Amino acid sequence: MIVPVGPVTSRRFTRKARTGEVLFDIGEPGSEAFIVAEGCVEIICEAAGQHRSLGRLGVNELFGEMALMGDHSRTARAVALEPTTLYVIPHDSFARCLADADPLLRYLLRLTMLRARASLREAGGSAGVMDRDLSGERGLAIQRLLIEQDLGEALEREEFDLHYQPIVRLADRVAQGYEALLRWRHPVHGAVSPAVFVPVAEASGQIVPIGHWIIDTAVAAASRLCTAGAPVSVSLNLSIRQFDDPQLFPTIEAALDRHRLAPGRLKLEITESLVMSDFKASQALLQRCKDHGVGLAIDDFGTGYSSLSYLHQLPVDTLKLDRSFLGDVLVNEASWKIVRAVANLARDLGVETVAEGVESAQQAAVLGELGIDCAQGFHYARPAPLATVLESAQAA
Ligand code: C2E
Ligand code: CA
Ligand code: CA
Repeated sequence: MIVPVGPVTSRRFTRKARTGEVLFDIGEPGSEAFIVAEGCVEIICEAAGQHRSLGRLGVNELFGEMALMGDHSRTARAVALEPTTLYVIPHDSFARCLADADPLLRYLLRLTMLRARASLREAGGSAGVMDRDLSGERGLAIQRLLIEQDLGEALEREEFDLHYQPIVRLADRVAQGYEALLRWRHPVHGAVSPAVFVPVAEASGQIVPIGHWIIDTAVAAASRLCTAGAPVSVSLNLSIRQFDDPQLFPTIEAALDRHRLAPGRLKLEITESLVMSDFKASQALLQRCKDHGVGLAIDDFGTGYSSLSYLHQLPVDTLKLDRSFLGDVLVNEASWKIVRAVANLARDLGVETVAEGVESAQQAAVLGELGIDCAQGFHYARPAPLATVLESAQAA
C-alpha cells in the first residue's frame, strides 16, 4: 500500500508561516528543506541587484533542498504568499538516507546539487528550482521522509501493534507456533503496510528501538498463549540493523525473564538474503541465539540465490519456504521436485520445514505429501490481534 501524501500530525516537523513572512533569505545559513503542506510559497532570487521570482510552490512541492547538501547558505529567498504550513525535512534525516544510499547515487546527487547551485548563482536563477517531470520521484521521496518523521513518534504514541498468524502442523492442523507481524496504525493514514514502513525504519535505524518493543511484546504474548494452554512458540522477524545492536540479547534475556518464558518458545526469523549478504555475521548471531536456547528460522527461503550447502554450517531449526517458491507447485513438475528435494534434505539435517503463504486445501495436501512439516497462510488464518488468537486457542 502506498501512503498518500497528506497532512500529518507531528508538530515537531511542521512550521507555520503568516502571509508575507520570509521563511529564509539569500545568504542566510540553513540546514532544512521544506515541503508545502498547505498554502503557497514564492521563491525569489537576486541577479544584478534585481529580485526575480523563480516560481510559486503549492501543496506537496519541495524547496530549500540545496541546504541539505554541503554548503548551507541559502541561494534564494522564500516568502509565504498566504497562511502556510510546511513539513520540515531536517538535515539529519536527509544525511541518514544519503549515508545508506548507493555510492554512485550519492555522487550523482551531490554533483547535480552542486551544478544546480552554481548555475543558480551565475544565471541568477534561470536554472529554475523545480523540475515538474520529477513529480513521481518527488512523491516517493516525500512519502519516505514523512514516514520516517512519523515513525519517530509512533512508539511513544503507542501506534504499533503485533498481529499473530498461526503456523500449523500439516498432519493435524494443530498450531505449533505463531509469527508476530508488526502493524502500524498511522493517526491520519490508518493501517500502513510493514512492506512500506519496515524498510524505512531499517534504513533510519528506528527498527532498533521498535525491535526492543517487538521483543518484549512478542515474548509477553508467547507467555500468555502458553499459560492459556497452547504450548506454542512465537517467531519474530529480525532486521540486519538489529544484528549490531548490543542490547539485542540483553533485551531478549530481560523479556524472557520478565514474562517467565522458556527460551525455546521464542524463535527469531532472519531472511535467507540477509544470511547470504553477510554469512559470517549471520553465523555468529545464529550461534549466539543457539547458545541462549532461542530458536532460529531462515525466512523467505528460496529467494536468496543461495546453495543448499551452507545449511549444515548454520545452527538452524526451521526453514520457511517462500510463497513464490511454492507458487506453481501444483502445476509445475520441476517446482514439485525442488520442494520435495528441500523437504528431504531438511529432514536429513533435522531441520523443520514451514511452507509460507498457503492459500488452498489443495496446496496444503500436496505440501503434506511432499514431506513439508508445517504451513502458514490465509488458508488457515490471517494475522490477528492477540485477543482473537487467545480466544481461538482457548476454544480449541
Ligand atoms: P514475512 O516475514 O515474509 O511475513 C509474511 C507475510 O506474508 C505477512 O505480510 C503475512 O501477512 C503475509 N501472508 C501470510 N499468509 C499469506 C497468504 O496466504 N497469502 C499472502 N498473499 N500473504 C500471506 P505482512 O504482515 O504484510 O509483512 C510483510 C513483511 O514485513 C514480512 O514478510 C516481514 O519481512 C516484514 N515484517 C513484518 N513484521 C515485521 C517485524 O516485526 N519486524 C521486521 N523486521 N519485519 C517485519
Ligand atoms: Ca517472517
Ligand atoms: Ca517470509
